[in-house]
Amino acid sequence: MRILIAEDDAIIADGLTRSLRQGGYAVDWAPNGLDADSALLTANYDLLILDLGLPKLPGLEVLKRLRSRNSQLPVLILTALDGTGDRVRGLDLGADDYMVKPFELAELEARVRALTRRSAGTVPTIQHGALSYDSVGRVAHINGHPLELSAREIGLLEILLTRMGRLVSKDQLVDHLCGWGEEVSHNAIEVYVHRLRKKLEAGGVKIATVRGLGYCLERPESE
Ligand code: CA
Repeated sequence: MRILIAEDDAIIADGLTRSLRQGGYAVDWAPNGLDADSALLTANYDLLILDLGLPKLPGLEVLKRLRSRNSQLPVLILTALDGTGDRVRGLDLGADDYMVKPFELAELEARVRALTRRSAGTVPTIQHGALSYDSVGRVAHINGHPLELSAREIGLLEILLTRMGRLVSKDQLVDHLCGWGEEVSHNAIEVYVHRLRKKLEAGGVKIATVRGLGYCLERPESE
């Protein structure tokens, strides 16, 4: 899951970036509206966190341009306490949710989970053979036993689960797992996949390697 934060307040952006990265999301930061607009044109995101009071291009204009390109990307608006009118306009322009500053990080994270889940079209708990994945709490179980997964492994598992039975290339994995400035090589992706595969093996859940192309989470045999 890859998230773009459009926020000119570096302290807020930094706090958000850290906490979302800890949660296994890839995060990019755009400090003004123009940068946000061009990032949205060039990269694939799963969510936009949009401050309305942005320099160079106001947040509402970023949102308007996004929706005029027929993008369905979920948008979470951040507004100041007194910005009721902007908030309403934001929702009218197609924002999916909003939060008023100052906000609790825990609440924002919960809303991020809800929005990214909705956009991936996933249900709260995904059952896959012996594997069950709770996308609200972001924990996986095999036959009822909890799996210990790193943030990267959780990110990887989520991508594979939402594309079950389909090929996912290494470039797509890099794109979804890493934000700007984070260098993750294909070799590192291979290591993450190797680790996750080992952990899933116990439950008979298989990640197939399609040589030279990428990976595919095989459908459970019972289906
Ligand atoms: Ca601002």
